Amino acid sequence: MKEFRSLLYESPAPHVARIVLNRPETRNAQDTRLLYELNHAFDTAAQDDEVKVIILAANGPHFSSGHDLREPNASEAMAEFDTVGTWCGFTCAGAEAQMAREKEIYLGFCERWRNIPKPTIAVVQGKCIAGGLMLIWPCDIIIASQDAQFVDPTVSFGVDGVEYFAHPWEMGPRKAKELLFTSDWLSAHEARSIGMVNRVVPREQLEQAALEMAAKISRKPLFALKLTKEAVNAAEDAQGRVAAMQTSFSLHQLAHTHNLHVHGMLIDPSGLPPDTARALRAKTNQKAS
Ligand code: ZN
Repeated sequence: MKEFRSLLYESPAPHVARIVLNRPETRNAQDTRLLYELNHAFDTAAQDDEVKVIILAANGPHFSSGHDLREPNASEAMAEFDTVGTWCGFTCAGAEAQMAREKEIYLGFCERWRNIPKPTIAVVQGKCIAGGLMLIWPCDIIIASQDAQFVDPTVSFGVDGVEYFAHPWEMGPRKAKELLFTSDWLSAHEARSIGMVNRVVPREQLEQAALEMAAKISRKPLFALKLTKEAVNAAEDAQGRVAAMQTSFSLHQLAHTHNLHVHGMLIDPSGLPPDTARALRAKTNQKAS
């Protein structure tokens, strides 16, 4: 991958790399290309010894509308990119291809990014929906603008939460259940009060707040930062995070397979906005014919 089409890779300050999602016309919907580019950008920043802190930001009014459900031939798109995990069978029939794709580009990528041995800061404005959470949760610090809103509405369309099931770790089990059962929005201030967000600032101060935090962190020795990140991550993992997420991921695949049996598509379309449901039906019918 030589060039970025769906994001920008910037060096806004010494020792700071900034990755900017740049599909504002789709509210930064995540198609296969965007996710592979993001993975490549994270790898680039991780391997650059000059970089000590990585910022993940997004262009436009909203951080991300989630996975791009309108992407045509999503499974076939996998062939365009070099996969980074060991899973295979991206064009197989039935549940096999879907599980392979989600294990590679959703759970697999998020886990990789969460384990990058450098501090990462997600900078969030506007709406951050479902798969959008899967970009910010793997980051170490989250700074949100006052107007930021978060939601995982997947239960509304017959799925038990996004593929990187970090909800209980991000907000505690009780709030996680409320968020998932109701599909309610979480405001920036509430997200901060439950520990999911570090700082909330006015939208016009968002970029500066992230750069100030990055500058402060970048003055520390990088090896100490790496070790500290490993230590905190290990504390979460000692509580069974990885095994719990594998279980959630398997249940998520069961939900997709159930929906495929009952509704002819991976999700229950009754919970979707009518135009998205129509587009999905058309895509499914096209595939079947
Ligand atoms: Zn899924």
